[in-house]
Amino acid sequence: MSSIRENVLRVKEAIEKTAERAGRKPDEIRLVAASKTVDVQRIRAAIEAGVSILGENYVQEAKKKIEAVDKPAAWHFIGHLQKNKAKYAVKLFEMIQSLDSVALAEELDRRAGQVKRRMEVLVEVNLSGETSKWGVGEGEAMGLLYRIKELGNLSFQGLMTMPPYFEDPEDSRPYFVRLRKLVERIVEEGVYSGRMELSMGMSNDFLVAIEEGATLVRVGTAVFGPRP
Ligand SMILES: *Cc1c(COP(=O)(O)O)cnc(C)c1O
Repeated sequence: MSSIRENVLRVKEAIEKTAERAGRKPDEIRLVAASKTVDVQRIRAAIEAGVSILGENYVQEAKKKIEAVDKPAAWHFIGHLQKNKAKYAVKLFEMIQSLDSVALAEELDRRAGQVKRRMEVLVEVNLSGETSKWGVGEGEAMGLLYRIKELGNLSFQGLMTMPPYFEDPEDSRPYFVRLRKLVERIVEEGVYSGRMELSMGMSNDFLVAIEEGATLVRVGTAVFGPRP
């Protein structure tokens, strides 16, 4: 339990130091503790140590945990969302980071309308083309964004990506650069304006992601230890 506290403090300190070295403000970067498979007690320990956003991959697992944790925190959905779970997702999560199709966008919009809220979303982009990964291809992203713009109950906040796993975090850098450039293009083309979120970087490569502009880093193992 105390090691979770130490882990959280270590990760937060690394975020701050890296931000400063990269000439960024540390408070531009938010830690999302990726808590799939992690039990309620350990999640509570992370919140007590200063974690304020949890990232979950499965709706049913998240629902049980959100009800049981009973401490102030925001929950983001970071896994693949099935359309038939959208009605639960709009009630449970502050943000869906993994919007990856027009059909899902339309269903989330409809369900968000039913509970009278605007749902914050990130579009997940699959930059590697790996078939094992979800997300829209780089070429399809703009089309999805134009559709989201028409959906009044969705609030587009930015992009998310998950590069292939590399031993050397430097190998992730080109993917992070591409995601940043895509966000820049969205602004240049006038599709959206203002501040955009870039959700990129996990335990092995979040420091590189911060150097390349990440505003949300999704860190699991470095906070909670290895998963079973
Ligand atoms: C599990 C997960 C993470 C965190 O992975 P770690 O390597 O444990 O930090 C980040 N993003 C997504 C989408 C995940 O599923």
